[in-house]
This record gives sequence, C-alpha cells and structure tokens, in this order.
Amino acid sequence: MNDNKISIKAPAKINLSLDVLGKREDGYHEVKMIMTTVDLSDRVELTLLEEDRITIESTGGFVPLDQRNLAYQAALLLKKTFGVKKGVGIHIAKNIPVAAGLAGGSSDAAAALKGLNEIWKLGLSLDELAVLGAKIGSDVSFCVYGGTAIASGRGEHIQHIKAPPPCWVLLAKPPIGVSTAEVYRRLDTKTIDHPDIDAMVHAIETNNYEGVCGQLGNVLETVTLPLYPEVKQIKDQMHRLGADGVLMSGSGPTVFGLFQHESRVNRVYNGLRGFCHEVYAVRLLGEGQEDFKY
Ligand code: ATP
Repeated sequence: MNDNKISIKAPAKINLSLDVLGKREDGYHEVKMIMTTVDLSDRVELTLLEEDRITIESTGGFVPLDQRNLAYQAALLLKKTFGVKKGVGIHIAKNIPVAAGLAGGSSDAAAALKGLNEIWKLGLSLDELAVLGAKIGSDVSFCVYGGTAIASGRGEHIQHIKAPPPCWVLLAKPPIGVSTAEVYRRLDTKTIDHPDIDAMVHAIETNNYEGVCGQLGNVLETVTLPLYPEVKQIKDQMHRLGADGVLMSGSGPTVFGLFQHESRVNRVYNGLRGFCHEVYAVRLLGEGQEDFKY
C-alpha cells in the first residue's frame, strides 16, 4: 500500500448454525448464530481524495452505486462521526454473489471501515470499528473481525471461537435473490425446531468434523425452502452427490456443502454445474489464514 491507496479483502461468510430466539420490541429478531469465513472475497480498493466527496464504482456484479451501497454508507458514517474532510474513491471488485446469504455487502462495508481507518488515519481499534459497523447492518460487526464467532443480539454481539476443522466448502446459488427482511417477516418463531448451538460449538472446539456436519442447522430454511423449491432441490442434489453436510446459508438462497476430500468436492462441483449456474469450491478460512490486505 502507499498512503493514498489501499486494497482490502472482503471475504464471504456462511452460517454453520442459525437460530432465531424471538422478535424484539425494536422490530429486530434476537438471533444466535455461528458464522465462519470462507475463501471467496470481494476486493475493496480505496483511493484517498483530497476533496470532500465519496465516489463509488464496481466491477463484476450488480450493486447499487450510490448511498444504498453498504461500503458507501461506511464511508459516510465515518465522515459524519469523525468530521473527516477528505474524500475517498471506492472501487469494489465483486466476486461474492449478491443477495445470496453470504454477507457480501456487509463484508464490503467492513472492508471499507478498515481501509478508511488507515487512509483517513483515524486510529480506531477493531472493536470500535465493529461497534460502528453495527449501525450499518447486523452482520457488519462480524465481518470486521472475520474468523469464526458466535453472533448474538441482532447479530452484533461477537464471541470469537476457534476455527472449525479445515475442509472444503461448495457454494451453489440458484439464479434468484432472496430478501433477508422478507424471510424474517415470514418466520414463525413459535413453531420452529431450534438447532443445538452448544453442540455445534462443542464439535468445533473439539475439532470433530463429523460432529460439525451433524449439527448444521438454520431455522430460516423453514421459510426459504417452501418459497423457493429450487433451493431444496440443490440441497437434495448435494446430499445425493455425496456432501458430508449440507445447509442453506443465512436467509438463502445459497446452499453450501462441506467436504473433507478435494477429489469429492471436485466431483460434486462438476455434478452441480449442469444444474445450477453459480457454483464455487472454496476453503474454510482457518486460524491465521486470513490476510486482510492484498
Ligand atoms: P446477508 O447474508 O448479510 O443477509 P446477503 O448476502 O443476503 O447478506 P448482500 O449481497 O449483502 O446480501 O446484498 C443485500 C442487498 O444489499 C442487495 O439488495 C444489494 O443491492 C445491497 N447492497 C448494498 N451494498 C452492497 C454491496 N457492496 N455488495 C452487495 N450488495 C450490496
């Protein structure tokens, strides 16, 4: 990096477990989820501008290029909070599918916060950036830290845990976008079966790969699967082709499968390609494997 330009990696996340405990008086849902980072990243490039303005452009994916963009909102928030008079040119090279349940927008916002902290010389800690990030979106706090964590509250309370056993992750996204707000609106919190988050944490902490696969659970499947049968079809197909564990990520529609063996993930990747137009074989990012800067 030179002082005027920085490139930050904005990795996608998957939920190994996602539970909703109820609806709060402020309209948000109380959640408890285990999130972990995967090696599929956008690249957020920030260029210092001497004049007081924010510009934004993107290549590779269709995202709003104005105040609706979460990276733009990150810049605006820092400007307003700290009275920053300089500006920034934001360029997002989009690799993470949009509206997919992979927190792409949140991760771009987190990357913008971290990069702007450097080029605007704000001297904020990661904890301070995570608190600011929660004002942009519930998943931004997690994305500021990355790694693996239990997220609670509306997603902004982060408790770090160890990385799951290393494995391959196959991501498959049908050609639909799912509105997270709509899925939460339709969720009936009284009738859902709750995943056993403690058992998942135990499996992770004890490096028990089979346990991790056995404890995968996401209550939002009860809404998204009936609404979009293609998501269920991809889940069934991944199971049939031999994934060790399969789950929908976030509010969907992306489905992920876990694999210990590269040969098997390649076989299933090829089997799904004819069936689903966006498929990615990536690694879970383990301890110390995250390198935020390009
Ligand atoms: P989550 O898993 O956190 O619910 P998601 O993966 O389902 O997120 P995103 O890709 O973050 O969804 O996009 C959600 C919405 O945010 C889309 O409607 C998109 O237009 C908007 N958005 C704003 N900024 C961005 C960005 N930088 N990248 C992607 N989407 C963005």
